[in-house]
Amino acid sequence: MSMMNKESAEGRAHSIEYADMLLLRFGEFTLKGKNRTRFEKTVLRHVKELIKPYPNVVLSKEFGRIYVELNGESAIELVQALKNVFGIASVSPVKVSKSELEDIVAVSRQFLEIIAPAPGTRFKVNARRVWKEFPYGSIEMNKLIATPLLQGYPGLTVDVKSPELELRVEIRQGHTYIFCENIAGVGGFPLGTNGKAMLLLSGGIDSPVAGWSSMRRGLEVECVHFYSYPYTSELARQKVVDLARVLSRYAGVIKLHLVPFTEVQTSFTGIGQDNLIITLMRRAMLRITTQLAEREGALAIVTGDSLGQVASQTLPSMNVIGRATTLPLLRPLVMMDKSDIVDLSKNIGTYDLSILPYEDCCTLFVPKSPTTNPNLRIVDKIEATLPGYSELLEAAIEATET
Ligand code: ATP
Ligand code: MG
Repeated sequence: MSMMNKESAEGRAHSIEYADMLLLRFGEFTLKGKNRTRFEKTVLRHVKELIKPYPNVVLSKEFGRIYVELNGESAIELVQALKNVFGIASVSPVKVSKSELEDIVAVSRQFLEIIAPAPGTRFKVNARRVWKEFPYGSIEMNKLIATPLLQGYPGLTVDVKSPELELRVEIRQGHTYIFCENIAGVGGFPLGTNGKAMLLLSGGIDSPVAGWSSMRRGLEVECVHFYSYPYTSELARQKVVDLARVLSRYAGVIKLHLVPFTEVQTSFTGIGQDNLIITLMRRAMLRITTQLAEREGALAIVTGDSLGQVASQTLPSMNVIGRATTLPLLRPLVMMDKSDIVDLSKNIGTYDLSILPYEDCCTLFVPKSPTTNPNLRIVDKIEATLPGYSELLEAAIEATET
């Protein structure tokens, strides 16, 4: 379908404040039966949550769609909020008319005046008679609407095969919906419909994006952050709290576990194997997170690793680090380019926080040349011979604040 695909309100020539209603379409059409019902109910619940600040809005649901009657509330604000709901594939701002020929034509004309298509725009009317009692059929309606519009807009050229502007007219009992724009939604699965995972959340660019990507696949996430007070500041901790808060815009509520990591980290510094410190730290993080996951009923761990980005993200490193947990390790960004990750983080709204220059516990202890090829046997041996190692991990879990 070639409608005017406009990604954002910023890029368009006209405002979408013309809308009387928003039409939200669900994504993931491969879902069937019970899953489908659960999927749609979860999306509806999330939408209800987001429209709370807009008391005049009236919602109704139909198979595959949600209608949001605006009753004077801001279309721009609501589109911004609703297109980010996981499970929504697209949003159309709609003008509503009575289901009477004269009214449909009059409102279509108003609509065109607002859209103000440039001369020469390839144009088509696509009418659909959903209400079978309406006296004119769909094909007939195309002509009955297009003819007067073309008289008023001699600059338009009709092109039914590849129109730039497709005016869609859905004739229903009581009301007719007129729209031409399909604003892309984030799609994905509604939150929590695919279970729960723990997200290793640092203060960097990658892990918040990994969290958002997991949530978009329907995972509920609980964040785990390791900090090394007094080596890392209160500000660095606050930054992570703020990042989790941005993620919670997409999730409603998010749990954040703050794990004190100083003791564990400093236990590695005296071993005389500085190039393995990052490997040991990452493994310690995974061990602690695995226990937290068991406690919280999560079935996987999500990280912001991207293949080859740094020494701890080479394949040999991932291999040795990953063996510290028996849970599936999900790395949504593993094959992505940094520039694409950055673009996503800007869209999600975490970028500006992520680039704040506070130190992370890992950067503090980074050796001059971290290994890109750690040896599993050596790492295992170090961990086995570190005095009181498992007690240290236990103590960190004990002292975790949620
Ligand atoms: P990010 O931008 O997410 O920090 P990065 O490219 O800087 O990623 P690393 O610092 O090597 O890479 O971290 C790799 C992954 O390990 C992170 O994406 C995150 O999932 C996890 N991680 C790193 N530091 C911490 C921390 N202090 N607390 C929790 N998880 C962390
Ligand atoms: Mg980092």
